Amino acid sequence: MHDETAVEPTAPCEGGTGPAGGRSGKPGAVLFYSKFDDPVEWGAVLKSELPDLDFRVYPDVGDADEIRTVLAWQPPPGFFEPYRNLTLVVNLGAGIDSLAGRADLPDVPISRLSDSGMIALMRSYVLFSVIRYARNIPDFEAAMRVKEWRYIHPTPLHRIKVGVMGLGHLGAAVASSLAQAGFDVRGWDQAKKAIPGVNCHSGAELASFLSDVEILVNMLPLTPSTRGMIGREVFEAVPRGAKFVNASRGLIVDEPALVEALRTGQIGAATLDVFWTEPLPAEHPFWAMENVLITPHLASITVPEAAARDVAESIRRVAAGQGPLHLTEPQRGY
Ligand code: NDP
Repeated sequence: MHDETAVEPTAPCEGGTGPAGGRSGKPGAVLFYSKFDDPVEWGAVLKSELPDLDFRVYPDVGDADEIRTVLAWQPPPGFFEPYRNLTLVVNLGAGIDSLAGRADLPDVPISRLSDSGMIALMRSYVLFSVIRYARNIPDFEAAMRVKEWRYIHPTPLHRIKVGVMGLGHLGAAVASSLAQAGFDVRGWDQAKKAIPGVNCHSGAELASFLSDVEILVNMLPLTPSTRGMIGREVFEAVPRGAKFVNASRGLIVDEPALVEALRTGQIGAATLDVFWTEPLPAEHPFWAMENVLITPHLASITVPEAAARDVAESIRRVAAGQGPLHLTEPQRGY
């Protein structure tokens, strides 16, 4: 897990440096592309770290051969083709699923963000979602609508079993927060992790992990191996009435299977931030389900002032012939 102050050990640069590449010691021009993030804010925070930075905002690219770094969120297909001298791509978020597998992705290091602001927002989203179920808030909202004083005796938090699938930068932070809040937390990941206060399972232990989970939280990355991973088998493996929170990616979940599980009550309720299709189409059954809370993919966002230090450090490192912070592996998908 990383925070704002985290600095990873430097590693040799694995990507190409291009003809006028990073080994010159000069960072070159940075090109920004995002439909969601504010280029003015990003330009300002990056220039506070790198005052001489040549910061360009797409489509005002200038000479494409001068671009060494692309800082982008969900660039369109073919976006990278004009930039022959790239040395670094910084994904303006955590998940690189919109970059992995693309034909135009350059053979340079692909760095993700993992800033303290993003981690804090994700912690708050998942804590809110879990506490909302733990404290029966949907029941009180329903009772209030019919002016009913409906007493439900609170369950002590340490008796509520919460399971987190995916224990990476954000997943581990979320699991840790839930444990600190007092829940009985267990986690599952492909490899064994060690998180204080969290009972960590791995690999083939999925069934035993799921067997007593009352609130299941998905924090896996979207990759070829996690696509559709959370479906009927998972929903049937948790106790009847378990709640589900998806704060990572919609395509990890088999949506028709979730709709069915929510209809039968096998899954008692779900909080969903991400979907197969976004915006969620008006005709989607989730909209009409009273046991579903929908949020429009905002569980967490990148906070520029928190992330700029890491981005600047990555630019400096690559210019010095080293690897960036938060290096990803596009071939595995995260
Ligand atoms: P990381 O990439 O840091 O961690 C991924 C974790 O999942 C790692 O522990 C990895 O294991 C594990 N993993 C990968 N593949 C599998 C698999 N097939 N089976 C089991 N475990 C697997 O991700 P983060 O925690 O930072 O973020 C998770 C996701 O959250 C992001 O990928 C993104 O899609 C999503 N997200 C959603 C946001 C929103 O607003 N809704 C905002 C930000 C992120 P290992 O350590 O062995 O590699």
